[in-house]
Amino acid sequence: MENFNYHRPATTTAAAALLKKAKDGKYMAGGHTLLPTMKQGLASPTDIIDLTAIKNFSGIKVSKTTVTIKAGTTHMEVATSKDIKKAIPALAEMAGKIGGVHVRHKGTIGGSIANADPAADYPSACLGLGATIETTKRKIEADKFFVGMFETALKAGEIITAVHFPIPKKSAHQKFPNPASRYALTGVFLSQDAKGKVRVGVTGAAPKAFRATDLEAVLSKDFSAKALAGVAVPAKGLMSDMHATAAYRAHLIGVLAGRAVDAAK
Ligand SMILES: Cc1cc2nc3c(=O)[nH]c(=O)nc-3n(C[C@H](O)[C@H](O)[C@H](O)COP(=O)(O)OP(=O)(O)OC[C@H]3O[C@@H](n4cnc5c(N)ncnc54)[C@H](O)[C@@H]3O)c2cc1C
Repeated sequence: MENFNYHRPATTTAAAALLKKAKDGKYMAGGHTLLPTMKQGLASPTDIIDLTAIKNFSGIKVSKTTVTIKAGTTHMEVATSKDIKKAIPALAEMAGKIGGVHVRHKGTIGGSIANADPAADYPSACLGLGATIETTKRKIEADKFFVGMFETALKAGEIITAVHFPIPKKSAHQKFPNPASRYALTGVFLSQDAKGKVRVGVTGAAPKAFRATDLEAVLSKDFSAKALAGVAVPAKGLMSDMHATAAYRAHLIGVLAGRAVDAAK
């Protein structure tokens, strides 16, 4: 790992100013993606701007319609929140399946979404629930946020401050975890709103998280695993690697969506 300057500002304004001034600065939240990347020599920032001392940067608020999770909230805080377990149980369950205990105590929702790892869990929840991502500059719909592999709609210096999840009627998360990392080989986050409209967010299968719109159309008419029987998810555009072929991942999406329908609550 190379030497770097370490900063711990108390406001997002100060953090953005430090990043602007740095030659090659990087924000850090839980550090559970950034630090391993630096240790492997894949990133060598001149300045680390630690966001964890920013006031009001973490916390959970649940209203009648929305769960709001501030960016610095850890996966463990989401997994164990009584309010989230009541409002969107699948979201708490999903956070409880991220990595191991150590990762869940350090990793944050903002870091996960900003990183946009193609196998990360939160992107599927954002798409599957129709979340809105709030930053220091604007609000971005999840559908427009995940642009590509490790690529988001965030502009230079922009900091995620919170994620707003509408509370659905029912939801469920199903993941086929990579046995080594616990990242999703393929994962599905499904929700049904009060009008019966279904959203299916998929992660781990393609270079970026996406919505399985064919499955959504079928399930919005008939919310049953049986309805998916004849629906083949196309393998075109999905990833093939040493862990699974594109065809296998396509098959998993259908299987996991069916299980999610059965598990939805
Ligand atoms: C062994 C291991 C297993 C894991 N397993 C899983 C898993 O099963 N599922 C899963 O989803 N993830 C998994 N992760 C990733 C984990 O969830 C990370 O914590 C997460 O991806 C990054 O969050 P962080 O807070 O640590 O971000 P950091 O590492 O601090 O930052 C990641 C990136 O996001 C940027 N960033 C951070 N916060 C913000 C912000 N608020 N606004 C703008 N940019 C920001 C940083 O500049 C950096 O580029 C695993 C990680 C490890 C090490």
